[in-house]
Amino acid sequence: MSERELRQSIVEHCRHMNAIGLNQGTSGNISLRHGDTMLVTPSGIAYDAMTAEMIVAMPIEGEYGSWSGPKKPSVEWPFHLDILRARPEIGAVVHTHAMYSTILAIARKPIPACHYMIAAFGGSDVRVADYERYGSKALSDSVLRALEGRSACLMANHGMIATGASLEKAMWAAVELETIAKQYYHTLLIGGPVVLSETEISGVVEGFSTYGLQDKTKVA
Ligand code: 13P
Ligand code: ZN
Repeated sequence: MSERELRQSIVEHCRHMNAIGLNQGTSGNISLRHGDTMLVTPSGIAYDAMTAEMIVAMPIEGEYGSWSGPKKPSVEWPFHLDILRARPEIGAVVHTHAMYSTILAIARKPIPACHYMIAAFGGSDVRVADYERYGSKALSDSVLRALEGRSACLMANHGMIATGASLEKAMWAAVELETIAKQYYHTLLIGGPVVLSETEISGVVEGFSTYGLQDKTKVA
């Protein structure tokens, strides 16, 4: 895809995540790796008013924090940039304040292996990153720790982050994370889950390395 198409795709995925109830208002942000550049949503712009030209370009390995575009980058550019720097397999990062993920994040409850789909995030749980102020380097550091060996995490008293090789995969992961968060939340209300064992989950993790459905998941 051309840079223009990628920019447009970011705008469409932002509108999509609000339309399906995965996020609300101007919360959340999205970034995408395009060669040695990070394309990231601008800060505080309503997604309906956002255009491809407003997407901000930042060098991944160049001067830390420099950017170009008509609008300021998302306040969360540090964790978007640090994730793309530290994790070459990741091509896109989706951050949302999705309801059930955020409820668990507020209660600081990591998601255990309550459903086999937990393996889609790389292991037997999804961790909660320690609370740090939004937009801070400290938040980015705590997010990177929570993402070790994982493709997604919750963020204490804030929201969630889902990543993927492509934006389609990252959005697929965000929807799956919110789904398992909702299942876990409701299971807690009826006495708590029966948690799958490490052995049960490790086989599923292997299966997910070749699971192809997410390639077909596209925004309408
Ligand atoms: P931005 O509008 O600056 O991307 O901030 C939204 C957000 O979710 C901060 O955590
Ligand atoms: Zn946020």
